[in-house]
Amino acid sequence: MSSTTAFTAPAPVGLAEPLPVLGAEVEVPLVSGEKVGYAALDYAASAPALRRVWEDVAAYAPYYGSVHRGAGYLSQLSTDLYEQSRQAVTDFLDLREGDQVVFTRATTDSLNLLAAAVPAGTRVFAFETEHHASLLPWQHAGLSVSYLRAPRSHAEAVAALDAALADCPQGPRLLCVTGASNVTGELWPIAELTETAHRHGARVVVDAAQLAPHHRISVRELDVDWIAFSGHKLYAPFGAGVLAGRADWLDAAEPYLAGGGASRTVARQEDGSVAVEWHRGPARHEAGSPNVIGAYAIASACRALTEAGWEALREREERLVERLTEGLAAIPEVRVLNLFGAGSARVGVLSFVVRGWNSSHFSAALSAEYGIGVRDGLFCAHPLVRTLLGGEEAAPSECGAPEPSLPGERSLNAIRVSFGAGTPLEHVDRFLAAVRELVTDGARWSYRNEGGRCVADTRR
Ligand code: PLP
Repeated sequence: MSSTTAFTAPAPVGLAEPLPVLGAEVEVPLVSGEKVGYAALDYAASAPALRRVWEDVAAYAPYYGSVHRGAGYLSQLSTDLYEQSRQAVTDFLDLREGDQVVFTRATTDSLNLLAAAVPAGTRVFAFETEHHASLLPWQHAGLSVSYLRAPRSHAEAVAALDAALADCPQGPRLLCVTGASNVTGELWPIAELTETAHRHGARVVVDAAQLAPHHRISVRELDVDWIAFSGHKLYAPFGAGVLAGRADWLDAAEPYLAGGGASRTVARQEDGSVAVEWHRGPARHEAGSPNVIGAYAIASACRALTEAGWEALREREERLVERLTEGLAAIPEVRVLNLFGAGSARVGVLSFVVRGWNSSHFSAALSAEYGIGVRDGLFCAHPLVRTLLGGEEAAPSECGAPEPSLPGERSLNAIRVSFGAGTPLEHVDRFLAAVRELVTDGARWSYRNEGGRCVADTRR
């Protein structure tokens, strides 16, 4: 019998309302046949669209037209909107004079673009704790990478980078580091790491996929060289992302994709080949028809978050985080995964394991019996999650797929709960109550493995 209680703390006084998001009224079926409001607690994977973003996109949709390639009114309007969206991102990130905003498909695309653009011979430094999107593009692009061991404090991270750069003083060097972990939600010491990197003459790209939806970012103040983030995690799920920052390496690089839009002139040569003059600036890396709706949706989200006010958004989120961490701390069977210690600052992302439970089983029960959507697995950060699980061996899994598992098996993966500007307090409270009940009483249904996923067994 668990020592947990069913106590729920009174709601914090003066908690601001969540921002309106799509899906807030959606009901989902439980395995019992009842229906309940869906508690979306997987914002770190993809956040729901802000209602404001949806309305802005809907208002523009009838005027949709080609970008940079049409003489008609709607093409001109769409081109203006696309370029204004770049400006909105520039303002949102507080970029410096001369910085560029390149629209991409998402963070993964942004970091692969940068990996393809860095000067030949660049040495890349990345902590092994990174998301695979920050860990893998460099090696894939044929660059040499130094993977730094998982640090257990901010000071250790800064010291490790300092030592690694001191050992490799020559040539172009780049640190790729996350702003906030997609596993633990913990914030990384970006300003200190950047100061250290710059002291050694190295540059820094920040993977802000999990930071941008939760924190004001000033590239100017942080002094980082590039920032990458995804629209679908910033309440703008229309297939666009951003790489923003210094123009020099981007302008000197071969275009990321070859094609229309990136090429200024193409002329047939005497010998039958074609000579290409490529654009400089963002267009160089945006070949093909731009995703104007995706860019406009990101711009709309940037404006909506800025207008809501970062102070109010942060305060609200911190109180939800507090509620969550205090609630979980009162359940002895729950172990929260932290890299930098229990008190370290985090955004609304937290992973944990439950003693005696397989994480896939637990997550399946949260969904099937309570209508709560979380994620289980290794969260595309296999080295980090394995370190946090204490070195337990886990078989590799596809991104997004949990380890094949059956109820009752040893936990090889973790459960992640994540939220943001659209999350009501009620969702956090419902989640805590469900965790307590599952730990205390067990699942009411039986579960089985179906194609690698743990699902409620509805066969009769
Ligand atoms: N970086 C971090 C920290 C992430 O959490 C994610 C996605 O979960 C990514 C990069 C990759 O983002 P995307 O899948 O949007 O390319």
